[in-house]
Amino acid sequence: MDERILDTTNGGGDDHKAEVLLRPQGFDEYIGQSRVVENISLMVESAKIREQAMDHALLSGPPGLGKTSLAMIISKALSTNLHVVSGPALEKKGDLASLLTNLQPHDEEILYSAMEDFKLDIVLGEGPAARTMQIDIHPFTLIGATTRSGLLSNPLRDRFIAHLHFDFYQASELENIVSNNAQKLSIQVDEKARLAIAQCSRGTPRIANRILRRVRDFALVYKAPVVTTEIVEKALELMDIDPEGLDRMDRRILTVMHEYYNGGPVGIDALCATLSEDRSTVEDVYEPYLLKEGYIIRTPRGRELSEKSRQHLGVTYNHRSAKPDLDI
Ligand code: ADP
Repeated sequence: MDERILDTTNGGGDDHKAEVLLRPQGFDEYIGQSRVVENISLMVESAKIREQAMDHALLSGPPGLGKTSLAMIISKALSTNLHVVSGPALEKKGDLASLLTNLQPHDEEILYSAMEDFKLDIVLGEGPAARTMQIDIHPFTLIGATTRSGLLSNPLRDRFIAHLHFDFYQASELENIVSNNAQKLSIQVDEKARLAIAQCSRGTPRIANRILRRVRDFALVYKAPVVTTEIVEKALELMDIDPEGLDRMDRRILTVMHEYYNGGPVGIDALCATLSEDRSTVEDVYEPYLLKEGYIIRTPRGRELSEKSRQHLGVTYNHRSAKPDLDI
């Protein structure tokens, strides 16, 4: 089994059910991201006063930071139906959501006028007999969730009125999330154990939830009435997460940079080729945290390992030789 702790998919079956159970149900349960929440609350309140659709909003940031959860909370607060669509996973043909998201490159124009004026231009017929008809559509709010807003075309990005970026969570915020979710899972987790989970979750609530569920398994099987740090440590070991919270893939990235590129600088394409990983997975899923925590430094010549990474890997470099000397 190659379960990646940072798996960007929501998973199916049981995984999905647990995500639903642990999702914050309202703004009051939604922890952290205060700047984003402040902006969104204001937009929601304004829409209610105007009795009109809320302005379109673009939520960006690494996976698992709460973009989908926030979209659900917004729709609840506005008492509207939420149509969640991701890429081509659409069911009903002719559904507005399908029309708006199943875009071919030239279809973007349709989306633009829909977003701007709530009008759809439809071409009827073909060839010289073709005519364009404009139909009014019900006002809607488009909430875009993306790992990187830079991937959107400029005209599309510009049509989102609010651009809100999600940051990694502080350990204290993750501790609150763990505490709330422990209650939802009916388990008791002592304070030190909560902090240990928070510190090893890569600043990401989805990871905190996954660790918490693994910890629950341990507690159930070993009949531990309260989850302690020992149990958390066992779960982390089983999940291949190290004491600094880096998972197997994080360590692989650092190790490859060290072993193949002598700590860098190395270009992203060369690095991804050596890792046999998709560039967007490395850039959008793994690298943001490694950059934020200072394990990797971005320079004009490429990515480099920092001193912190070298300490983590337990290596030093002898700059006169091409090969690094191992300290251990
Ligand atoms: P994204 O859409 O950014 O990938 P999700 O909204 O699916 O992330 O979040 C993943 C899980 O993390 C949710 O099911 C929820 O349990 C938890 N979560 C995310 N953000 C928060 C938050 N601010 N407060 C509490 N729980 C959160």
